[in-house]
Amino acid sequence: MDSVGVAADAGPGPAWRSKCPWGAPNTTSISCSLADVMSEQLAKELQLEEENAAFPEVVAVAEGPFITGENTDTSSDLMLAQMLQMEFDREYDAQLRREEKKINGDSKVSISFENYRKVHPYDSDSSEDEVDWQDTRHDPYRADKPTTTPRRGFIGKGKDITTKHDEVVCGRKNTARMENFAPEFQVGDGIGMDLKLSNQVFNALKQHAYSEERRSARLHEKKEHSTAEKAVDPKTRLLMYKMINSGMLETITGCISTGKESVVFHAYGGESATEDKVIPPECAIKVFKTTLNEFKNRDKYIKDDYRFKDRFGRLNPRKIIRMWAEKEMHNLTRMQNAGIPCPKVVLLKKHVLVMSFIGQDQVPAPKLKDVTLSSEDMKKAYHQILNMMQQLYKECNLVHADLSEYNMLWHDGKVWLIDVSQSVEPTHPHGLEFLFRDCRNVSQFFQKGGVAEVLNERELFNAVSGLNITADNEVDFQEEIEALEKMNEDHVQNHGKKLSRFSSSGDPPIYDE
Ligand code: ADP
Ligand code: MG
Repeated sequence: MDSVGVAADAGPGPAWRSKCPWGAPNTTSISCSLADVMSEQLAKELQLEEENAAFPEVVAVAEGPFITGENTDTSSDLMLAQMLQMEFDREYDAQLRREEKKINGDSKVSISFENYRKVHPYDSDSSEDEVDWQDTRHDPYRADKPTTTPRRGFIGKGKDITTKHDEVVCGRKNTARMENFAPEFQVGDGIGMDLKLSNQVFNALKQHAYSEERRSARLHEKKEHSTAEKAVDPKTRLLMYKMINSGMLETITGCISTGKESVVFHAYGGESATEDKVIPPECAIKVFKTTLNEFKNRDKYIKDDYRFKDRFGRLNPRKIIRMWAEKEMHNLTRMQNAGIPCPKVVLLKKHVLVMSFIGQDQVPAPKLKDVTLSSEDMKKAYHQILNMMQQLYKECNLVHADLSEYNMLWHDGKVWLIDVSQSVEPTHPHGLEFLFRDCRNVSQFFQKGGVAEVLNERELFNAVSGLNITADNEVDFQEEIEALEKMNEDHVQNHGKKLSRFSSSGDPPIYDE
């Protein structure tokens, strides 16, 4: 569409008015003579009058820079046509600019659509052919545009000639191009200074910016594909990302379990080994919950554990939760050393414990409560557990304290013990009570499971602890247990130090130090 004088086509008379594409305005007819009606002059006047009434806002816009003062002499149709033309051209130019930018990217050799531009009087002085430059006029932190080299490649004359390869011009352009780096890439406020970056420095920066972008995309993708971050707070998320970033973990695939006190994730181990440890191909990440509601139920385990006693009083709740993780790590290590099947500790970071995964291909081994074992396997499992409880007590000096079919996994034809953050030493003020409870859980489970030779909880307790409590009913048995614990506590009070363990021989029980 060109700048056409629409007014020239505007024929006079009512016929034209009824066909007018801008609509037929309602105007009260003015009575006049036939000669007046035939007058072209009058027709034109009437037309203008009508149009002014119909498009008042258009007239207001026409006070823009491109029609100044002349609109009284210009028919309004011409003006409209010009405006439309201008709008069209502006859009066309913007589209050209976008295409230029898309095609050129960051390439050193760029093509230009300059020759195809529609140039308008009011923007013909804009030098936007340098696509690297944005409008800097209103940004006080940005330097003025540098002088750009015209398309012929040089400016000036004779010895004052400046080519586009000029060091200063190039340096400035390079600085400006830093704006094209990913938004999160920190370039400082160099863009606001008259900084000249050499090509070498610029290329190194560009390379770095791209690799940063790729790395963040990789992290982002991992984050997107993982349900992990929904279950943990931002600080924990950061800890987990750091594990991926350091190469210790390859990827965190998802959540295995959300319990009251912890959330457990599955992860694939990375390639980097830490402290001479080889990372297992599959890992479990146990995140101890940092919300404090649940920990109250458990503080008796840790408060009275002599290993943490000195620290307990001085610590804030967040640190106490870290101690749960620390406790699980120490206990697992003891168990590992005794050869008890359990997860292997990989790493502890604050309240996040990474250990080997019991299971395969992201599928965790089933809990004993969820698996249907043959009577043969059931019997085997029972004997294995009896053995493990003895090892735990004697070799690791530990009582599981939450032993049940929920914390035993069936994997590779054997039972694996997990969840030992609450495990305590037998000399813990409630250690023997915890052991008795464990024994009851185990006995009941295997009794129900049809294992004929299963010991009752009192027999099991004696078999594990080596103590010889003779009470033949549960109430008396528990009383004796509590009496033993009381003797232990008194000893601590009187001697100011803990006993190493309960004696495994003698009746009544004695202590050795
Ligand atoms: P909680 O204190 O929440 O019970 P657990 O240590 O028992 O924490 O872990 C919860 C669940 O996560 C377990 O029942 C088990 O299914 C799974 N799990 C924990 N550790 C591992 C591991 N190392 N390998 C495979 N699964 C695990
Ligand atoms: Mg558990």
